[in-house]
Amino acid sequence: MLCLTLTGSTLEENRRLVEQNRKWISLAELRLDHLNADEQKIASSFPSTVDLPVILTFRRKSDGGACSVSEKARLQTLYETAKGDYAYVDIEEDVRKSDLKFKDPLQEQKVDLERSLRDRGVRIIRSLHDFTCVPADIYGRIAKLASKGDIPKVAVTPKSMIDIISLFRVQAELSQVKDKIIIGMGEFGICTRLLYKKCGSMLTFCSDTQAAPGHLSARTMSELYRADRVDEKTHVFGIIGNPVYHTASPRIHNPGFDAIHYNAIYVPFLVDSVRAFFKLAEMLQIHGFSVTVPHKRNVQPYLGRITREVKQIGACNTVTRIQNMWKGTNTDYYGFLAPIAEEIAQGAIRTALVIGAGGASRAVVWALHNHGIKVTILNRNEERARQLADETMSNYDSLENCNLYSKKFDLVVQTTSVGMDPNLDEDPVSAFAFSGKEIVYELIYQPRETPFFKRATKAGCRVVGGSEMLLEQGKLQFEAFSGYHYPHWIHPEI
Ligand code: NAP
Repeated sequence: MLCLTLTGSTLEENRRLVEQNRKWISLAELRLDHLNADEQKIASSFPSTVDLPVILTFRRKSDGGACSVSEKARLQTLYETAKGDYAYVDIEEDVRKSDLKFKDPLQEQKVDLERSLRDRGVRIIRSLHDFTCVPADIYGRIAKLASKGDIPKVAVTPKSMIDIISLFRVQAELSQVKDKIIIGMGEFGICTRLLYKKCGSMLTFCSDTQAAPGHLSARTMSELYRADRVDEKTHVFGIIGNPVYHTASPRIHNPGFDAIHYNAIYVPFLVDSVRAFFKLAEMLQIHGFSVTVPHKRNVQPYLGRITREVKQIGACNTVTRIQNMWKGTNTDYYGFLAPIAEEIAQGAIRTALVIGAGGASRAVVWALHNHGIKVTILNRNEERARQLADETMSNYDSLENCNLYSKKFDLVVQTTSVGMDPNLDEDPVSAFAFSGKEIVYELIYQPRETPFFKRATKAGCRVVGGSEMLLEQGKLQFEAFSGYHYPHWIHPEI
């Protein structure tokens, strides 16, 4: 179930949020702490106006909320509001039993919030928040929260892949606790939100306003990731990197899986330790994953088989599980070649100038070299250029001398990160002049048009953009992952 967290200041605003998201969500959580004081007084009526099960929550500041009244006043307001038709009421784990007893003007004796909820069939969510870590005794604490038949909720903050493993192990450790809510907050936790069912969680929260650290929108959770449709048969794929959330790959693979009706999900994993990730990959029976910076080399010790290209380039961007062994391939190599394959086949590219000598350049230079094209490498760090040139029998020089290489090559490939944020206005070879006849290839895809790209276009060159390579390498990964061609009618937004 996807639960929309409502943090509007009025009930009307929250009703609008429910309507805007209705097709993606199964329930909503009304956050009393974000409502105006006047609106809080009438919030008991809210569930009957939205036609969805609603969780009632009045969150303290110490638990990431906005409630600033005294604890006594907070619980009294929670009690009054809970008289409405709420399906669930959230009560924090450390609230004492005695603090949940109230004087109700309509009744002679003191009333007990917990008992009144249970009598009316309202489920209590017992919540534990930790914004600093994943507590070492997390399984014991979940079991304790569940002991009275309530729904335990833990929202904790993983800070590493090891913490992520702890959260995914909850289901194996506590499978007897059927109804529970497990949430990894913050950057590392996003995979636990997308794969909440694999943590044994009955629901996950989402919002358009990042109501909690790591929230994604309901639309993203449901339409892009189809997180609510994950089941025990779903094949899990993903991408590992650090950073990783800028990547366009989920927008390539998830719509592709959906289009061919393949029960699979592709999730970004923020990975600090490749070793720990391979453990998680075994636990979740991950079927395959993409690899981005800085792990393209780090994964290699864990691979049982690698292709010739991986060996030559020294970098792997695709890992698939083949007969219980991890196989590493490099689709950057073929993805780079695809947009210029015709010209190469026709012999129209015999010489190439490659700007940069980093990881991407290695795939480019090897691909060109293996197709008989004579390469010259220019790099800021000349030693790095020399090493790659030695391996591939290429020429090399310092980037400073780029003007000497103007108008001499059939193909010019820009592989540095200059032109990307934060160097959006920079051109790595501003002194280099185009003839207008060369094919120019810019590997950067974000932004679509760098200063280098614009200058080459203005000079009349055919310019290939980085998004073409990204899509081509993604399609090859898709084939490796699913065994099917990428559906031609899908045009991912990258
Ligand atoms: P990398 O291994 O870190 O290499 C970075 C390269 O950029 C090195 O050659 C580095 O030169 C050079 N560089 C960085 N800052 C510079 C500066 N201020 N002036 C001059 N040169 C500078 O990175 P990578 O993995 O190769 O990625 C490079 C770019 O390719 C990124 O923009 C990435 O998005 C893009 N890429 C695109 C695709 C695609 O599918 N379109 C695939 C892979 C990569 P030094 O050696 O002197 O430091």
